[in-house]
Amino acid sequence: LAKGGGRDAAHFFTPDIEAAARRRMLIENGLRTAVSDGSLYLALQPIIACADHTMIKAEALLRWTHPQLGGVPPSEFIPIAEESGLIRAIGAWVIEEAARLLVSLDPPRDGAFRLGINIASSQFTGGLHHHVAGMLARYDLDPRMLEIEITERMLLDPSPAILEQVDALRAMGVSIAIDDFGTGYSALSYLSVFHVDTLKIDRAFVSVMTDEARSQALIGAIVALGHELGCAVVAEGVETADQARLLGELAVDALQGYFLGRPTTAEAISDRLNPGTGRPYDKAALGTEFA
Ligand code: C2E
Ligand code: MG
Ligand code: MG
Ligand code: MG
Repeated sequence: LAKGGGRDAAHFFTPDIEAAARRRMLIENGLRTAVSDGSLYLALQPIIACADHTMIKAEALLRWTHPQLGGVPPSEFIPIAEESGLIRAIGAWVIEEAARLLVSLDPPRDGAFRLGINIASSQFTGGLHHHVAGMLARYDLDPRMLEIEITERMLLDPSPAILEQVDALRAMGVSIAIDDFGTGYSALSYLSVFHVDTLKIDRAFVSVMTDEARSQALIGAIVALGHELGCAVVAEGVETADQARLLGELAVDALQGYFLGRPTTAEAISDRLNPGTGRPYDKAALGTEFA
């Protein structure tokens, strides 16, 4: 906050702005040591197929406990990590930790279960596919066990480097998902250039769908578009049985959200993973997880 303000900006500071600036500084400083001090971990959220209720994926979501501030949400610390350049080290830790978790989960190697990780735009430089390939080889993992989520916003003005990396990752067998689909203002034209495997409908559409016929129409249209392009369509932020039922009726392929399970531990995910076929989603497990 203070950065862009120039010398006289201090004159306008209120206690609120000072508190916010101080919090930001604490976060940035804490992030400098987060990789080495063990304060980061990945929570996993199940993604459940509508057709047979099997868990076909899980998404790895970064969690961080700051020594003074306690839990800080990724929506707050990821942008700070990006601005300060710390995202490179943190992103590398995420890829390595995801590989370790995949080893411990020991899912089928053929893509019947994939672990999704989120990648920030600044990680999408020339070496990403080499980095991912090296990690998968080191942990003896099949690339089909991994999905990389990139936000639609990143494709607003895609550089040739991003395009190249997406193609290289897909050529290896890693799948690519467009995250927060429908919120990126990117006019869809990128879909004619980028070949992706999954569209993840942003929860903004899902949260209003039971009240608004228009958002159901939009979801139906996104599903048709996705399927026409050969993509699987996942809905995010599914919180109620009504939403789950309606999304199934709209031919969405898989669901993610608190109704299906909150982000949880690898052990809890492992319990639901039956190597080979996966096993029907167990509703009795609802409510036993943490956020
Ligand atoms: P995202 O990738 O779209 O992840 C989904 C977010 O929705 C997660 O928030 C998840 O906890 C939340 N969520 C899941 N189900 C529900 C639901 O039913 N209702 C509601 N209200 N929310 C639900 P989270 O974990 O706070 O992460 C926020 C964002 O931070 C992520 O959005 C992603 O963009 C980013 N992020 C998380 N982990 C990483 C990471 O390892 N690397 C990078 N670069 N970004 C990350
Ligand atoms: Mg995501
Ligand atoms: Mg999302
Ligand atoms: Mg999101």
